[in-house]
Amino acid sequence: MRDIQMVDLKAQYEKIGSEIDFAIKSVLESTAFIKGPDVKLFEEELQEYIGVKHVVSCANGTDALELAMMALGLKPGDEVITTNFTFIATVEVVALLGLKLVIVEPDPGSFTISIDAVKKAITPNTKAIVPVHLFGQCADMESLMEIAKKHNLYIIEDAAQATGADYIFRDGSTKKAGTIGHIGTTSFFPSKNLGCYGDGGALYTNDDVIAKKLRSIANHGMKVKYHHDDIGINSRLDTIQAAILRVKLKHLSRFNEARRAVADQYDKAFSGCSSLSVPERMSYSSHIFHQYTLKVKNGKRDELKKFLESKSIPSMVYYPGPLHVQEAYKYLGYKENDFPVTAMLCKEVLSLPMHPDMEQEQIDYIVLNILNFSGK
Ligand SMILES: *Cc1c(COP(=O)(O)O)cnc(C)c1O
Repeated sequence: MRDIQMVDLKAQYEKIGSEIDFAIKSVLESTAFIKGPDVKLFEEELQEYIGVKHVVSCANGTDALELAMMALGLKPGDEVITTNFTFIATVEVVALLGLKLVIVEPDPGSFTISIDAVKKAITPNTKAIVPVHLFGQCADMESLMEIAKKHNLYIIEDAAQATGADYIFRDGSTKKAGTIGHIGTTSFFPSKNLGCYGDGGALYTNDDVIAKKLRSIANHGMKVKYHHDDIGINSRLDTIQAAILRVKLKHLSRFNEARRAVADQYDKAFSGCSSLSVPERMSYSSHIFHQYTLKVKNGKRDELKKFLESKSIPSMVYYPGPLHVQEAYKYLGYKENDFPVTAMLCKEVLSLPMHPDMEQEQIDYIVLNILNFSGK
């Protein structure tokens, strides 16, 4: 049996390496490293895949969030509501732009932002809400869009972990994660479901004016060369990364299906275990399992993690510490026990190895060991 990894990019490269090598070589030969033809082609192919009018590529997912907030004209002091249970990038850019960060609890079942908590956090200064489609499953977008409409707010969807997930509306229609709010953002960090071989990111919008602004700000505020209409930044997707992403996008549906098949097996194995909770699947979203995250009861999470380590099975805690107690965010003035749901999740969650190239033998070995530890 091959060594088990959380994400096995090497196994993937062994399968699609020749396509990737060809794509990289063609960019090397063209020397069009910045804004080469593959960048535009990738944007068009991703537009088609996720069903959105504009995809604007950029340098990484953190920049994408920053660009979104810049393009919407958010001003220092404007309040932005986001979840306390996410990767740090989401809150970082809010702080960097001098916006007022308002963090709220996640829902303990879905791990995504709590709709009730959002409602309670709205003030006359609220300008935007940033839901995060955590672990590959969408937040409750229909409820959030209703709140946004009522209070005249922007919704920026952080879809970094959900490229390809479907949001399912109450009437049964679907849209891809990131295409429902005013702007969606994503990351192509190598371990994401659609990852490149370095850093990369993108923004989605159906609004022509916002798209133009995003394109300008991501490229030094230029619409015409050396004419600067906006204060911008330098945040572009390298052509080499775009060429790699064009190859990987063709396989994305299959990769996401393969992840789901692994998750189904995990679910089946662990759903009878009283000391474990399998991830809840919400009626309003498909799940593409960026992470497969268990909740381990009875304070045994760290013990299980250690036990798995002793069996050469990696596992990860996403996320170990609530954001509001991180040194950098103490200035927000939250108290340690202001977020009991987040605190509980941080103590219980454990993400298992999850990627499209898992072998049956690996899955069986992981399941067997977890069941041996947990009993029934
Ligand atoms: C990965 C990630 C980001 C940041 O993406 P980078 O490309 O690493 O900057 C932002 N938000 C979430 C939820 C992420 O998982």
